[in-house]
Amino acid sequence: MNILAFGPNGSGKGTQGAIVKEKYGLDHIESGAIFREHIKGGTELGMKAKAYIDSGDLVPDEITIPMVLETLSNSKDKGWLLDGFPRSLAQAEALDKALKESGMDLDYIIEIKLDREIAKQRIMGRRLCANDNNHPNHIAFDAIKPVEKDGELVCRVCGGELSARADDQDEEAINKRHNIYYDNTTGTMAAVNYFKNEAGAKIISVDGSKAIGDISAEIMVQLA
Ligand code: AMP
Repeated sequence: MNILAFGPNGSGKGTQGAIVKEKYGLDHIESGAIFREHIKGGTELGMKAKAYIDSGDLVPDEITIPMVLETLSNSKDKGWLLDGFPRSLAQAEALDKALKESGMDLDYIIEIKLDREIAKQRIMGRRLCANDNNHPNHIAFDAIKPVEKDGELVCRVCGGELSARADDQDEEAINKRHNIYYDNTTGTMAAVNYFKNEAGAKIISVDGSKAIGDISAEIMVQLA
């Protein structure tokens, strides 16, 4: 099963992606997380990408597209949930072409809809687990609230160290990312519409303002 997940930063896309990945045994491919791994590991790709990420700009296509397409082809047998890519019409076209060339089908498109102001408020409260990117933590949601240990907030799943992403605490970077997302001419909404118009994939649209469990239940019913 191959799935594309769309939703503005802060919509809960990563949280839902982690739930779906677990249930269906898919690879959860998050372009942003791959970049963060490269930055952490001090690779050349990470060094090239860092300044763009910190300021909320897109990493150039010549770096991003081959990186994501290579990861996807490695997950061909297992199936994947792709999150954070495509973020522009150009990336959507590149992905569509690559899928057709490699004979991979797109089965579902999950779109989490959320008002921009709510998404913005949510971004600031999310926390990253140092051990596993698929351990969602958010200080404002009971279902995924970090736990306290020795006076520190730690990951609710594994007790790992938590951190806030620099680009999640910078209002200008958040605004830039949302400008890209909600742009339906060449940005991410244009990519969403591109794939919605492509025959084949079933579209699952959910309201991101609902509770985490309600959203995942809605998604699961339609995936089944
Ligand atoms: P995310 O974790 O999805 O919020 O992504 C964090 C940052 O990584 C973004 O703000 C971009 O700088 C970069 N990034 C992630 N995915 C892409 C993409 N598909 N194209 C370009 N840059 C990306």
